[in-house]
Parts: sequence; structure tokens; C-alpha cells
Amino acid sequence: MSFLSDLLRKITGGSSGGGLRPQSELTTDEGQALWIYLECANCGEHIKLRLRKTSEIQRRDGLEKDEGPGEFFIRKTIIGSRCYKPMEAEIEFDNRYRIIKSTVKNGKLIPRSEYNEEQ
Ligand SMILES: [Zn+2]
Repeated sequence: MSFLSDLLRKITGGSSGGGLRPQSELTTDEGQALWIYLECANCGEHIKLRLRKTSEIQRRDGLEKDEGPGEFFIRKTIIGSRCYKPMEAEIEFDNRYRIIKSTVKNGKLIPRSEYNEEQ
């Protein structure tokens, strides 16, 4: 039964069931900063991005508080050096800076183990 509902959730891509599992393989935590890894959907370029926790990653507060599930979030446009097509990333983090939700237009987040500078 649970297998079926899992399957259904995968197929429909729905977020019901509250499956916001932290994805720690997508980031490298340096203390003051967090690295994330992206792949351009247009040309396949891999891009590594360093986010300073003190300035670039924002806490959800005040009016922003109910606009996403995260404790922290970023909204950022990233432009690679190969095709220059901008990627628009919106990423939600939990209170330990682990990614719990993300959307990347024109690209996707990749695990650090898949990041390849030559790509
Ligand atoms: Zn590209």
C-alpha cells in the first residue's frame, strides 16, 4: 500500500505526504559558507557556487516567513561561462543548511560527487 502511494507520488510529482527530506549530498558545508553544484540544462556545464551564510543565504523572516518551507533560502541567477544562459535557482534550506526543496530553471542541482570541473 505504501509502495503504491510512493509510486503515485513519484508519478504525479506531488508534495503531499510532507516528504521534505534533507539532501545533504547536494552541498558542502564549510562553516562560513556553503557550496552547491549545478548543471546547465542547455549545455551541460557544471558550475560550483559558494554561498556565504552571512550575506547570500537569507533567513525566512517577517513577510517572507510563510512563502516557503525552509528556515533559510536563496533566490539567485547563475550564469555559466559556456553558453551564458541564466539559471534561476530557488533553494530552501533547513536550520542546518541542508537543502529541503529546490527549483532551478534552465538547470538542476547535482550531488557534489557528480560535479566535474571538465564537464
Ligand atoms: Zn550552459
